Amino acid sequence: MDLANDIEQIAIIGAGPAGVACAWRLRQLGFFPLLLEKENFPRDKICGDALSGKVIALLKKLGGEGLVEDLIRQPFVQPVEHLDFISGKGRRVRLSFPPRRGIPQGVVAPRKKFDAWLIGKMPDGIRLQTNFLVRRVEHTSKCWTIHSSSGETVRAYFLIGADGTTSRVAPQVWVYHRLARPPVYPSVRGYIEGRMQSPSALELHFKPPYLPGYLWHFPVAGDKQNVGIGLPPKALKQAHLSLREHLSELFPQITQVRGHGIPVSTSNRPLTAPGCALIGDAGALADPFTGEGIGNALLSGIRLAEALAKVPPEDWWEADLEMIYARPLYREIQHELRLTRFLHIVAKAEWRVEILLKLLNRFPIGVKSLLHWYGATP
Ligand SMILES: Cc1cc2nc3c(=O)[nH]c(=O)nc-3n(C[C@H](O)[C@H](O)[C@H](O)COP(=O)(O)OP(=O)(O)OC[C@H]3O[C@@H](n4cnc5c(N)ncnc54)[C@H](O)[C@@H]3O)c2cc1C
Repeated sequence: MDLANDIEQIAIIGAGPAGVACAWRLRQLGFFPLLLEKENFPRDKICGDALSGKVIALLKKLGGEGLVEDLIRQPFVQPVEHLDFISGKGRRVRLSFPPRRGIPQGVVAPRKKFDAWLIGKMPDGIRLQTNFLVRRVEHTSKCWTIHSSSGETVRAYFLIGADGTTSRVAPQVWVYHRLARPPVYPSVRGYIEGRMQSPSALELHFKPPYLPGYLWHFPVAGDKQNVGIGLPPKALKQAHLSLREHLSELFPQITQVRGHGIPVSTSNRPLTAPGCALIGDAGALADPFTGEGIGNALLSGIRLAEALAKVPPEDWWEADLEMIYARPLYREIQHELRLTRFLHIVAKAEWRVEILLKLLNRFPIGVKSLLHWYGATP
């Protein structure tokens, strides 16, 4: 394959955490990726805004300790050091992860600010084209044509779908593997004023009618809280709830109430097709128990970049990317996926949640393994 000048080597659609991490790692490995993004930064992303220990560790891997230190100095960042699971009967299990060498192992950072900060820290050589809403992608003889809503086109040899829940690239992979769409969990969040009782704790309330989903309260810098609810579509139907209305009834003073789906990882799905691959939410990699997806968005972006660097670009279309990217990625996260998929099943019944929290309180080893999955150490 000749690499013609007017054809991009790699185009990444979506400049969220997955797309940025992938572009960042590709740049470190000598590539010059093009990021295509429909919005202009700062742009909001509906989220609980909680960055786990895994996110902190991956940011450190990408940009070194200096990057993490810069993040925690930002005024929009609220450090946290506890994750509280609370049952309907008020039983509480606290996972604590104190700062290590002054660096918190978890923070809350509103996505509008966090994502813009991350974009601003990207290394030179990554080109970001904003206001580029991808409408359609098509390929002819090992080259992609990416069409924007305003009629522009970009051509690229390799296409990466980092465009989240409504990915335009993901159907290319699903159709290739004859797969159905992954499950997407409806979620709604908003902000309320007021300091949390424990401003260094993330609270997850696993109680009816949200099970196996939950209601969250996360502390936001400036004595605010991010509150929200996320649950599987079936549970939402059974609960006969309008999530937005329900959240507004629970918190009459709530503002910025907005909803978005979380594509959760309930099984290991293929993430590649010839000439393209999926990362982050586009590949449905969010944790089915907590809905946490930023960690796996960063990780998958990094691992895809590393996998591509192992193969000469002219062989990208023929290479077995499932073998060198998707399978090793699932192997790397298999313990956390097994645990969170199991906890997700446990959380379907209230009595099981009560027993689980009782057992976790009694056997601290369980709390330790949860902390390990959270990417933090006690
Ligand atoms: C209510 C809610 C609460 C959540 N809470 C948390 C939490 O507290 N912690 C956590 O870790 N995870 C949480 N998640 C999950 C988390 O938000 C996602 O897993 C994470 O954002 C995935 O990152 P990503 O880069 O894959 O996708 P995204 O962050 O969605 O980024 C995708 C990017 O692609 C762009 N894009 C989309 N379509 C196109 C297009 N056609 N053309 C060009 N650009 C496009 C978008 O503008 C966006 O910038 C939550 C999700 C929801 C919905």
